Amino acid sequence: MTELIVGISELTTNSAELGTIRDAAVIIEGDEIAWVGSRQNAPAADTRTDLDGRAVLPGWVDSHTHLLFAGDRSDEFTRRMAGEDYEAGGIASTVAATSAATDAELRKRAYAARAEALASGTTSIEIKTGYALDVAGEARLARLARELTDDVTFLGAHVVPPGVNADSYVATVIGPMLDAVLPHARWIDVFCERGAFDEDQSRAILHAGSAVGLGVRVHGNQLGHGAGVALAVEFDAASVDHCNYLSNSDIDALASSQTVATLLPACDLSTRQPFAPARQLLDAGVTIALASNCNPGTSYTTSMSYCVSTAVLQMGLTIQEAVLAATLGGAKALRRDSGHGRIGLIEPGSRADLQALDAPSITHLAYRPGMLLTRNVWHAGQTIDSPNTKTIHLLPSKDET
Ligand SMILES: [Zn+2]
Repeated sequence: MTELIVGISELTTNSAELGTIRDAAVIIEGDEIAWVGSRQNAPAADTRTDLDGRAVLPGWVDSHTHLLFAGDRSDEFTRRMAGEDYEAGGIASTVAATSAATDAELRKRAYAARAEALASGTTSIEIKTGYALDVAGEARLARLARELTDDVTFLGAHVVPPGVNADSYVATVIGPMLDAVLPHARWIDVFCERGAFDEDQSRAILHAGSAVGLGVRVHGNQLGHGAGVALAVEFDAASVDHCNYLSNSDIDALASSQTVATLLPACDLSTRQPFAPARQLLDAGVTIALASNCNPGTSYTTSMSYCVSTAVLQMGLTIQEAVLAATLGGAKALRRDSGHGRIGLIEPGSRADLQALDAPSITHLAYRPGMLLTRNVWHAGQTIDSPNTKTIHLLPSKDET
């Protein structure tokens, strides 16, 4: 079964050869892109969808979320907005609520968040554990996360549980907890930060994870300068996330590595941290990703378009750079940007993950901040209903023009 999509005013492919194509067409076959080019050259297909002059781009790749949780931290948010500092210890309240929740309660909330994200154009998502912090609970979160994504990250080393000795907790993380989570996880991660895990503890955790075949990710340099970035590069991590406080040697190390710097602007706003130096990273040749960091404490949003508009309006990126970071950048941060089923780009052989905007160009993502512009979503070739689909069309239909 093939589907021809026409009426694409602007197609952002992220492919070096294809670039951006005006008046474009795409053919989807099964779950893959079969053909990309200009409308006038498009071959025939079994079905035809006319987008009436809308921009099409790859689905968002949200490479950093903590989607499985219970509870609410709006009171903590209120205190923070009144001037209190963010500290890593706030995580403990989500741990208590999550541990008390049933599987059904966790599933209900996570599936709703995943559906909300998908309808907003997020076709790929990573999900971390880290709100249980005991062996059975972390394994449970990993098992539930695996229902929603192939990119499950073991983050037992999110924070040391209150009242537990840090070194003995690390021994649990790299021992029985790792064993219990391993069947469900693709990645290991550590919150390398003051108030969480120090450099030696973080190294021990990443070493244990990579020794059993997990890919490495790091939460680093969020609340101050630290060893997170250097450790990530040392372990050839796919990504180091946050990156608010970077030294010149951190930036140099990233530039000469395969490690992606994943920036989380919605979290930076919610914690009132200075933004990560996105412009400086790009100018140094570092690959960046943008992700939501969806979590109940510091970034309770699944909106990637919000992250994109913030990156443009407040972090000095162009719209093209921000969209690239939120799509192919995320795919690189998950090491899913090449080979069969690759994501983050639209070219023959890539997974058919696309979104169409109710706008003629991607510029509108930042030009009209806060608007849900995603109108059509294809996930592995399947069309997804967007809440926006039923809204009044802002563009005149073809018979009116
Ligand atoms: Zn995080």
